[in-house]
Amino acid sequence: MTVTGSLREGGARDPAASAARGGGGGTDGGGAATPAVHDIGSGAAMVDLHHQGSPSIIGVGVLELPAGGVALVDPGPEARLHALRDGLAALGRTLEDVRAILLTHIHLDHATAAGAIVREAPGAIVYVHAVGAPHMEDPSRLLASAGRIYGDAMTTLWGEFLPVPRESIRVVDEGDAVAPGGRRFEVAYVPGHAKHHVAYCEAATGTAWVGDVGGIRIRGGPALPVTPPPDIDVALWKASMDRVMAWRPERIVATHFGPYGDIDAHFAELSGELDAWALRVRESLGDDAFANDHERARAFSDWVARRVAEQVSPAHTELYGTASGFFDSWWGLARYWRKRGAA
Ligand SMILES: [Zn+2]
Repeated sequence: MTVTGSLREGGARDPAASAARGGGGGTDGGGAATPAVHDIGSGAAMVDLHHQGSPSIIGVGVLELPAGGVALVDPGPEARLHALRDGLAALGRTLEDVRAILLTHIHLDHATAAGAIVREAPGAIVYVHAVGAPHMEDPSRLLASAGRIYGDAMTTLWGEFLPVPRESIRVVDEGDAVAPGGRRFEVAYVPGHAKHHVAYCEAATGTAWVGDVGGIRIRGGPALPVTPPPDIDVALWKASMDRVMAWRPERIVATHFGPYGDIDAHFAELSGELDAWALRVRESLGDDAFANDHERARAFSDWVARRVAEQVSPAHTELYGTASGFFDSWWGLARYWRKRGAA
């Protein structure tokens, strides 16, 4: 089948509705919002998972395979598996049709559904970088550290992180090429946001699936970094932007959220913002006006929110806050600087 003509905007509602969302609780009206399926051309679609009840936060790539079935790029959190299921149904597909899962990285908002999907589609292959692969096979360590951050919200936000059987995992790295079901993707190793991050470029369609290396950009708004602990590395991230651009793709697809074709401008803005954020955090570390790191992170989060609000509407700013977690981003950059001897 083709996804052409499958564009549905079932979730087309005022993003201001998300402002009513309770912070961190992840309540979303019991899945009342129909997941939007965006046809992005070239035999690809994005399913909007309506994470935390908000549109345009997490998108799952769905690729029609010439040999039959579909491949997914970053299936998202297991807590939103029902939304992915609904989105696939709108495309005339089920989870059993999944033949491959291309993981850009294993952060919880990208990868926790993989194990559950493989249970329903036992032949599906999960592609992941070597540093991420052991955690997909045995998520217990990852879950323990994430549990310290998210506490009780853990299951609500991310769901159940089921292991992926070893025989279903294929490790990928810089220079590899993978061709699930007859679509061929080159793999680039692109650390900086996460040390196990890869990107996939399909030369035939000029499309690079970049995960979070392209930052967060929602509905044509500003391209912003997202810098959670523990792996943030500013210099490596910039090199990774260059690596993606070296493919000379016609478009990049960001998980948060969607395809963009103005690639030079996108990465120029992202790079500039990453510098500005890093500098702001660096300065805050030596600022004794703050009583503690929590205050530093709070002030940073407010600063970022003000910068975004200068450019887009309050509802749009709210979407950025939901997708990014500006507060968490202070900690990632603070760790980056402290590893380099900052105060
Ligand atoms: Zn991430």
